Amino acid sequence: MNSIEKLTEIFSKFPGIGPRQARRFVYYLLHQNDASLRNFTDLILRLPKEVSRCLSCLRFAKTNTKNLCAICDDSNRDRSMLLVVAKDVDLENIEKTHTYNGRYFVLGNMIPLTEKASTDKARTKELQNEIRDRENEIKEIIIAMATNVEGDHTTDILKELLEPVTKKNNITVSVLGRGMSTGTELEYSDADTINNALRNRKGVV
Ligand SMILES: [Zn+2]
Repeated sequence: MNSIEKLTEIFSKFPGIGPRQARRFVYYLLHQNDASLRNFTDLILRLPKEVSRCLSCLRFAKTNTKNLCAICDDSNRDRSMLLVVAKDVDLENIEKTHTYNGRYFVLGNMIPLTEKASTDKARTKELQNEIRDRENEIKEIIIAMATNVEGDHTTDILKELLEPVTKKNNITVSVLGRGMSTGTELEYSDADTINNALRNRKGVV
């Protein structure tokens, strides 16, 4: 396999990228000069050095010496609220709206329909641990999944898994209001939609 083929194979593994787009990326790179190619590879190599997973919310971010991201280490954030999202981009999108001042947890993935309980793909065990560690300060958990079948499935399973700790500590569990139309992913929702969905959230337990 030559470099063009190898790089095409790598790019086609990127989310949402097919082999034809992957090949176009490679040809785009072939048209760049040495300096910009070097800049590109430097940035990629620097990623693991500059970004790591936050110990608390598990998102990728620039972390401090306590291994916490700026949100988790911010004493002005409301520690009584925990918003659970599927992906890092969902968190970023909600942050951009500036309407939520609590803390987050990034599940990593939604729970596949074939999985009935805990799964390798979603960090359900880590979520349970995080809540257990902070059971005295958390008052509300907002589950913010996409409004599709997999999102509903994930919400249902999370409610079940968290019930022992939420019941014991009187923690409210809520989901985003249906300001978001069916099939919507947070990643593609605009600020107004997220605002409404947050404001119209409803308790489910
Ligand atoms: Zn964090």
